[in-house]
Amino acid sequence: MTAQRIDGNALSQQLRAQVAADTAALKAQGLIPGLAVVLVGDNPASQVYVRNKVKACQDAGLHSVLEKYEATMSEADLLARVEALNNDPQIHGILVQLPLPAHIDAQKVIEAISPAKDVDGFHIASAGALMTGMPGFWPCTPYGCMKMLESIGYKLRGKHAVVIGRSNIVGKPMALMLLQENATVTICHSATPDLKAHTLQADVIVAAVGKRNVLTADMVKPGAVVLDVGMNRNEEGKLCGDVDFEGVSQVASYITPVPGGVGPMTITMLLVNTLESAKRALSAQH
Ligand code: NAP
Repeated sequence: MTAQRIDGNALSQQLRAQVAADTAALKAQGLIPGLAVVLVGDNPASQVYVRNKVKACQDAGLHSVLEKYEATMSEADLLARVEALNNDPQIHGILVQLPLPAHIDAQKVIEAISPAKDVDGFHIASAGALMTGMPGFWPCTPYGCMKMLESIGYKLRGKHAVVIGRSNIVGKPMALMLLQENATVTICHSATPDLKAHTLQADVIVAAVGKRNVLTADMVKPGAVVLDVGMNRNEEGKLCGDVDFEGVSQVASYITPVPGGVGPMTITMLLVNTLESAKRALSAQH
C-alpha cells in the first residue's frame, strides 16, 4: 500500500479562503477580527513564527498587531500589556509567543489572558472547557489535526487512536479531542515501555514527540492513518517529523508529510479561532 498524503498546505488554503470570506462578511457588519501577537526577546525561531502569524492574518484580511519587547521586559510590564489587550475592543485574540525569558513566569502570563481571547487555547479555562466538552478555544495544533482527519472524511467513532506525547499543548488536548469524537484513546509517553505494542493496535496514530523516527513501518498496522506533528532537523539540517515517512508510507492509508502537513494547519487554526472569537464578540453585542 502507498499512503495518500494529507496536504496541509492545500487544506490550509481552503480554510484560510473561508476565513477571509467570513472576515469580509464581518467587516460588512462593522467588525474587523483582530489578533495581537506579543513577542518578548529575540529568539530567532520565535521571530519567524510571529512574522508568519501576522502575515497570515493580513492575507486573510484580519487586523493584526505585533508587539515586540526587549528580553529585559519585566513580568509586571508584560502582565500590564496583556491586561490592556484584554480590554481593547479591537483585539479578539491574544497570543503571547513562547518561550518567554526565564525571569517571566509563562504560566502566569497565559492565565492573565482573558479566556474569551485565548485563541492559542493554552489558558487553564480553555483546557477545562475542552475536557468537559464546553465551548472554548482548542489549541491550534491538535485542532488542525482534527481538521485533517475531517478532510479525509475519517469517522473516529469506535476507532482506536494512539497519541504519542502528552504535552499540554499537543498530546493531551489531542487525546481529548479524539475522545470527544468517540475514539478509544491510548496516550503513550517517554515512560511507555513498549510503544510498538500500542501503535500496532492503532487505527490512527498521532506522533507528537520531537524525535526523528519514533514511528517506523514495523510499528504501524496496515491501513492506519498517521499524523506527524513532530518538527525536527535531519543530518542535512532539513525539517523532518517524528515519523519515518518513506517507510510508514508503504503501510499506512493516509499520512501527513513534514514539511507541508500539520505545520501550516497550526497557523490556520489560529486564524479560525480568532475569527470565532470575533463572531462571539459580535453576538454578545446583540
Ligand atoms: P514536548 O513538550 O517536548 O513533549 C514531547 C512528548 O513526547 C512528551 O510527552 C514526552 O514524554 C514524549 N516522549 C519523549 N520521548 C518519547 C519516546 N521515546 N517515546 C514516546 N514518547 C516520548 O513537545 P511538544 O511541545 O508536545 O511538541 C512535540 C513535537 O511537535 C516537537 O517536535 C514540536 O516541535 C512539534 N510541534 C509542532 C507544531 C506544529 O505546528 N507542527 C506545534 C507544536 C509542536 P514525557 O511527558 O514522559 O516527557
